[in-house]
Amino acid sequence: MHTVSLVKLVVRVKLLPTPEQALALDETLRACNESANWLAVRAFEHGRTSRAALQALAYAELKARGLSAQPALHVLRKVADAYTALRANLKAGSLGRHRSKRYGKAAAKPVAFRADAAQPFDDRCLSWRLDDRIVSIWTTSGRMKRLALTGQDEQLALLTAHCQGESDLMRQDGQWYLLATCEIPETTLNTAPDGFVGVDPGIVNIATTSAGARYSGRRLNRHREADRRLRSKLQKKGTKSAKRRAKRHAGRQARRARDINHKISKCIVAEAQRTSRGIALEDLTGIRERVRLRKPQRVMLHSWSFHQLGTFIAYKARRAGVPVVYVDPTYTSQECSQCHHIDRRNRPSQAVFACQACGFVEHADLNSSHNIAARGWWTWARGAESTVPALTLTV
Ligand SMILES: [Zn+2]
Repeated sequence: MHTVSLVKLVVRVKLLPTPEQALALDETLRACNESANWLAVRAFEHGRTSRAALQALAYAELKARGLSAQPALHVLRKVADAYTALRANLKAGSLGRHRSKRYGKAAAKPVAFRADAAQPFDDRCLSWRLDDRIVSIWTTSGRMKRLALTGQDEQLALLTAHCQGESDLMRQDGQWYLLATCEIPETTLNTAPDGFVGVDPGIVNIATTSAGARYSGRRLNRHREADRRLRSKLQKKGTKSAKRRAKRHAGRQARRARDINHKISKCIVAEAQRTSRGIALEDLTGIRERVRLRKPQRVMLHSWSFHQLGTFIAYKARRAGVPVVYVDPTYTSQECSQCHHIDRRNRPSQAVFACQACGFVEHADLNSSHNIAARGWWTWARGAESTVPALTLTV
């Protein structure tokens, strides 16, 4: 049997509502979440939380509260799913041990939704007209026919080709978004890679590859330092508006980092695909414990999402059929990529690698990336499989 496997991607599209449209969206999200909260209480009181039970209990009333058929069903599902998740969390012990205070507190009250919690819309309540860059969407004050949207060409192309019919409406930092799920067939895996591209994550350079590419972090680091100063200033202030500002700021910073991680991962995967190679990444589980740096650098390293970069690379690689392996990161920066002599003194400075044994001299990050590439090859040759984290990626 021939099966095509699919990669799930969530495409995040920004909406550009007029002030009146924004009000209607706001009203809609609020109405859905108020209904969800109302239903959550009733479900709790009745001790029944399955979707079927909730539908029998409250469908008519949800409609009487102003939700049309599909939104009412989505609210039912949202509440039923939230109780299922709560039960799973209680069972898994992630809310404390049975009979603990925290467990008791979580189990003793109905689930609750924020006034702006995301709400799913299916293709009966939402239709895309991507050529015109608008959507038409159900609201509590009627169908909104011409809601403008914006996105990168790549995002819109994904939506046009692969959108699966259900999207979440959400508001974040005062902006409106639709999160649309796309299922994309992945390219057949290259099972005979012609070597590996090693990726060395760093601070001065966010990533250096054994293919010779270097992605500078200078501009970001400058931002990062300024961001950190502003954050601690706002923290000291501690007022409500300072907190709000800090939150908005953190959101902007995360988006900037995400954009850059997208660009870097795209380049790295394209290079590996073009040269028919796999990609070797350091297994960074536990990097925080492992890395010992001077304090300012430590602050910067922690605020940078290497994990996100690795995830993006793994996903894009999977879509492109490029194998990815994770290697042991121990001593990658102290090992000579030519003679494999390992010595701390091989690193006279942060930037320079100079082998004590054979005299090989190289940019330190580049030397590390060659070690990672070599280890990638050995890992693959030993029979390691290409691994990709099992979560849904948002682009
Ligand atoms: Zn050497």
